[in-house]
Amino acid sequence: MKKYQHYINGRWVDPADGQWFDTENPYTGAVWAQIARGSAADADRAVAAAKAAFEGEWGSITPTERGKLLVKLADIIEREAPRLGELEVQDNGKLIAEMGAQTRYLAEWYRYYGGLADKVEGAVLPSDKPGIFNFTRYEPLGVIAMITAWNSPLLLLAWKLAPALAAGNTAVVKPSEFTSASSLEFMELIAEAGFPPGVVNCISGMGIEVGAPLVDHPDVAKVAFTGSDIAGQKIYESAARKIMPVTLELGGKSPNIIFEDADFEAAVMGAISGIFAATGQTCIAGSRLLVQRSIHDQFVERLVQVAGDATIGDPMSADTHVGPVTTPPQYQKIMDYIEVAKNDGAQCVLGGKPYTGDGAKGDRFVEPTIFTGVSNDMRIAQEEVFGPVLSVIPFDTEEEAIAIGNDIVFGLAAGVWTSDIGRALRMSEKLKAGTVWVNTYRAVSFMSPFGGYKRSGQGRESGQESIKEFLQVKSVWIAQQTSVANPFIIR
Ligand code: NAD
Repeated sequence: MKKYQHYINGRWVDPADGQWFDTENPYTGAVWAQIARGSAADADRAVAAAKAAFEGEWGSITPTERGKLLVKLADIIEREAPRLGELEVQDNGKLIAEMGAQTRYLAEWYRYYGGLADKVEGAVLPSDKPGIFNFTRYEPLGVIAMITAWNSPLLLLAWKLAPALAAGNTAVVKPSEFTSASSLEFMELIAEAGFPPGVVNCISGMGIEVGAPLVDHPDVAKVAFTGSDIAGQKIYESAARKIMPVTLELGGKSPNIIFEDADFEAAVMGAISGIFAATGQTCIAGSRLLVQRSIHDQFVERLVQVAGDATIGDPMSADTHVGPVTTPPQYQKIMDYIEVAKNDGAQCVLGGKPYTGDGAKGDRFVEPTIFTGVSNDMRIAQEEVFGPVLSVIPFDTEEEAIAIGNDIVFGLAAGVWTSDIGRALRMSEKLKAGTVWVNTYRAVSFMSPFGGYKRSGQGRESGQESIKEFLQVKSVWIAQQTSVANPFIIR
C-alpha cells in the first residue's frame, strides 16, 4: 500500500513518532494509502527547515526569480492536472467534473502571483519634516503555517501558497487528515519547479496533534487557515497569545435570494448549483434559499423536480451530479441536522434520508434534501450543515429579504436573482457578505478577493490585495543632515 511521508527540507521523512493513519476512498470506503501521523516534533522540524530557508538562499533571491519559479510551477501543474484531479476524487469523493476543473484552474493562481511577485512597490512619501526623507518597503513575514480543509485541498492551498511565496515567505503546509495525499504529492511538483529545500514543507496528521503545535510554534509568523469556525476560533485564540496575524477562511450559511422578476429557469439552476454541487460540501453553499412568496410554490415544485432527477453515485463518472459525503463524521452530522429540522417543524419535500439506490456504495450517500416552511430562527437555517440540505424561506419585500439574509452570524457569500439592475445594486450594497453574486452563483477567480464578513473569517484570499496579507510594511526615515536640534521633543 502507498505510504505518504512528511516532506521536510526537500526530503521525504518518516514521522518522528513512527505513527501512521489510513486514508479512505469515500466512494468505495477502501483504505488506499497510509499517511504520516505528525506530532509537535514534526512541526518543529518543518518550521526549522522553513526558517532556515527564509533566512538563507530564499531570502536573498530576487522577486523576479521567485516569480519565475511560480510560473514554472504553474506549467507543471497544468501538465499534472488530470492526475491531481483524480487523486483529489480518490481522497475526497467529489465529482471528477468539479475536481478536474479545479486542478486545471489551479495553475492560474501560481501564474498570477508569479507575475505579481516583482510588482509590489513601496512609496516615497511626502514629508512634513524638512531634511528627512521617508519611504516604505514591503517585507515578507517569515514562516507561514497553512492549514486547510478537506473539501478542495489543492485549491485552498493555492490561495495561500501562491501569494505567500510571491511575497517571499516560506511555508509549512498541514492539509486535512481526511485528504492529505494531494498536498503531499504536490510537493513533488514544488521540487521539480526548483524551489530550494525548506521553502515549502508539508506535514500531515490530526489538527490537535500537529496543527495546534504548528500554530503555537514561536517561529511561525502567520497562520493562513481554511476550515470550520470552531477550529478557526481556536487558532485565532492561539494567535492572540502570540500577537500573530491570521487569515481565516471559515464557514458560511449563505442566502441565495430569488425575486419574482428573476429569469425563473436560470434561478432554479442557480439554486441547485448553490446547494447540491459538491454534495453541498462547500463553504459558499447557498443553503438558505429565500424565495419571494408570489413565486414560492411554483419555484419549489420545479426545484424538487430538478433535484429529484439528479444522478447520484460514482464521483468518477462524468454523468454523476451528486457524489458521496467525504467523511463519516460529516455524514453523521448531515443526518443529525435532517432530524433537527424535522423535529423543529420544517417540512421535508425532497429526500431527508440516506441514498441507497443505484450507484450508491458504502454508507456515505445522502439524498438531495429540501425543507420548506423554514423560519430563519430554526437551527437548520442558522447553522452550517455542509451537505446537500436546502432550507427554503419565503419573503415578501426587498427589505425583508435583506433583513433575513443578514440575520445570521456568518457572512461569506450571497446570491441575488433579479432582472432589476437597481435592485441588484441595492442588494449588493446591503448584504453583509464578502462575495455577492447577481444572476450567477459559485464564481471565483484568482483575480478577485474572496473572504468572509462576520464569523466567516478574517482577511482576503486571491486578487492583487491579498499579497499584502503576507507582507508587512516598514517606514524608513533618512535624515539628510545628522544634527538633532532638540533630542527631548518628537521630530
Ligand atoms: P476543520 O476546522 O475541522 O479542519 C480544518 C483543518 O484544521 C484541518 O486540517 C484540521 O486538521 C485542522 N485543525 C482542526 N483543529 C485544529 C486546531 N485546533 N489547530 C490547528 N489545526 C486544526 O474543517 P473541515 O471539516 O476540514 O472543513 C469544513 C469547514 O471548512 C466548513 O466549515 C467549511 O465552510 C470551511 N471551509 C471554508 C472555506 C472558505 O474559503 N471560507 C473553504 C472551504 C471550507
